[in-house]
Amino acid sequence: MTDSPRPATAPHRAFDPQRFGWDGVETRVYKAGEGPWRDVTRQVLFPPEGDLPVEWRYFEVAPGGWSTLERHDHQHAVVIVRGHGHALIEGAVRAVAMFDLIRIPAQGWHQFRADAGEALGFFCLVAAERDRPQLPTADDIAALSADPAIAAFIRP
Ligand code: MN
Repeated sequence: MTDSPRPATAPHRAFDPQRFGWDGVETRVYKAGEGPWRDVTRQVLFPPEGDLPVEWRYFEVAPGGWSTLERHDHQHAVVIVRGHGHALIEGAVRAVAMFDLIRIPAQGWHQFRADAGEALGFFCLVAAERDRPQLPTADDIAALSADPAIAAFIRP
């Protein structure tokens, strides 16, 4: 957190529908060198500032891509804003679509996948101070895979 009385980020950043991005917000690689994932980008819309000790990000999973299968102590509040896909949420694989709200609880395994031919974009809110994601062990994969729908879905 900062002691600055005024946020350092711009008061207004226009949305550019051509690149599905915002003025002055860099599109980055999702997680360089961390865990297995495919075709995901990340934009930090609002870094933690002042009395908002949170980070608000936009993630986009390209058609056929997936985010890392992970869990952690911190929660996520997610709003789907583009496309269709599926997500592992609280022990079930669910179809997700634009404007759906998803809450990832502490220690809940989660993974997002875009459907074939369609990108999946979502806003994700997290606490600025948070633990690092844990990746599944072979035992975790075996336990998750007891459910055939989850076994078919996950990309560990
Ligand atoms: Mn996560």
